[in-house]
Amino acid sequence: MKTKRRHIGVHISSAVLEFSNYRCFYCGAEFNTDNPLTLDHIVPLCSGGTNQLNNLVAACKVCNREKGAKPIGAMFEGKRHFEEAVRVYLGLSTFELAVLRVLRRIRKMLGLVREIS
Ligand SMILES: [Zn+2]
Repeated sequence: MKTKRRHIGVHISSAVLEFSNYRCFYCGAEFNTDNPLTLDHIVPLCSGGTNQLNNLVAACKVCNREKGAKPIGAMFEGKRHFEEAVRVYLGLSTFELAVLRVLRRIRKMLGLVREIS
């Protein structure tokens, strides 16, 4: 189903930009006047995506144009790993990312323990 293009409220756009540390989700570029940040729909409106916070990321104008209506995975083919893009986007250090990986592994192990006990 196609979603109607509706205006995204100022509070939503500033929340997305703040959450992204004013960086492009796809290339990690910081905001600048030559290549300003825009809001990009992860699932495009034409594919039924919404204007909700969880479907929006900050993207520089160049990347937003490149993504168009493509699925998000297409933006990471032959580029930086998706996980690295998320790390930069969230402003996490490589150490923090390593901690998250360990936590994920522990959660998986706990799941296994629960399964066998
Ligand atoms: Zn970009």
